Amino acid sequence: MTRDRRRGYWNRAKETFSAADRRRYQSRWLARLVAHAWAHAPGVRRRLEHAGLAPGDLRDEASLARLPVIKKSEMPDLQKADPPFGGFCTVPLTRVRKIFLSPGPIVEPMGPEVGAWHLETCLYAGGFRPGDVILNTYSYQLVPAAHELDEALALLGCTVVPTGVGNTEQQVAAARAVRATGYVGTPSFLMTLLKKAEENGGERLSFEVAQVGAEPFPESLRNVFRDQYGIIARQGFGTADVGMLGYECPEASGMHLVEDAIIQVCDPQTGAPLPAGQIGEIVATVNNPTYPMIRFGTGDLTVVTDEPCACGRTSPRMLGWRGRADEVTKVRGMFIHPRQVDEVAARAPGVARFHVVVGREGHQDTLTFRAELAAGTDSGAAAAALESAIRDVMKLRGEVNVVPPGSIPETVKKITDERKWD
Ligand SMILES: [Zn+2]
Repeated sequence: MTRDRRRGYWNRAKETFSAADRRRYQSRWLARLVAHAWAHAPGVRRRLEHAGLAPGDLRDEASLARLPVIKKSEMPDLQKADPPFGGFCTVPLTRVRKIFLSPGPIVEPMGPEVGAWHLETCLYAGGFRPGDVILNTYSYQLVPAAHELDEALALLGCTVVPTGVGNTEQQVAAARAVRATGYVGTPSFLMTLLKKAEENGGERLSFEVAQVGAEPFPESLRNVFRDQYGIIARQGFGTADVGMLGYECPEASGMHLVEDAIIQVCDPQTGAPLPAGQIGEIVATVNNPTYPMIRFGTGDLTVVTDEPCACGRTSPRMLGWRGRADEVTKVRGMFIHPRQVDEVAARAPGVARFHVVVGREGHQDTLTFRAELAAGTDSGAAAAALESAIRDVMKLRGEVNVVPPGSIPETVKKITDERKWD
């Protein structure tokens, strides 16, 4: 059977909201969620009271910023003080279907509502369709992702084979036995299964679609899945605490934000929302009435764009995962991250070894990109390319310093901060 895996929406009305309609929709559920949490989640109520806020003060995305961010790293202590959920669960245990224990350790409830992670939108946009038979290779032990995916796949009308982690040969046999059309799991394990199936001239697997996650997904690997195996592979971004926040559409040009989460890109130190286009920490508020995480700091960095997408979905997009918030350095009011340093180097020809030095002259931060070039590289062209890449990627002006081979130690950190503040 061939299916159109590119066109259509899981929920056309929501996914094509105008900006004003999206704001109205989000303000509506936010008001309901905050009032519900105030009444039933003492942990949330304590946070509001501590900030001197009443439920009516958090009406929309802008006013949300009045509530200080709660860091993921605070959760274990809060939960120890008020077990098991730190006062963040709004329903009695009789209505909690499952309890998960994620690394931290952080204890998470799965409440009575179906599809609280909003994964259906993500799976449909990624090409999953009713009638697909899916190998779910995520871990079923203790952590939520596999269980939440199963629920969303059931809503879509897909059939799940809960294979879990490992046992490569058994998984290949299972995929063949049921003629599996889809896969969820890590991209590297998908590659392992495809290779295993081909050993000794074996019959290829019948996968057509894959949702991958939990590790980086290089474009080169996506291309191998598409060109050599005919598999549409898409990724999403989420965490065990807040569920799915963003997903790739057929265009695969960033991850659309889900309508049932309010994502703010914030200063990792102050928690204040940053202007569009800047790198910052993902702070999420999610429409999950059982476990209402409000202004939850994920510790992950991203950049969000609201440029239109060719797929027709109108939500802003996260432009990839840009590292962890505790690795950023602030230069002239902008955050820079080691991955941006890599990105700058990749945009210029012949850059062999490199690092960034942040210094201070008078009252002004300085940024110097030091680079060693491969033999035969035109240093003028490389320096010009680096300078414009610094502006594009870091939104800053920086100096480029081409240095002789051997000047930069092999073990150097990507960003060296030489500023003295005393
Ligand atoms: Zn799109």
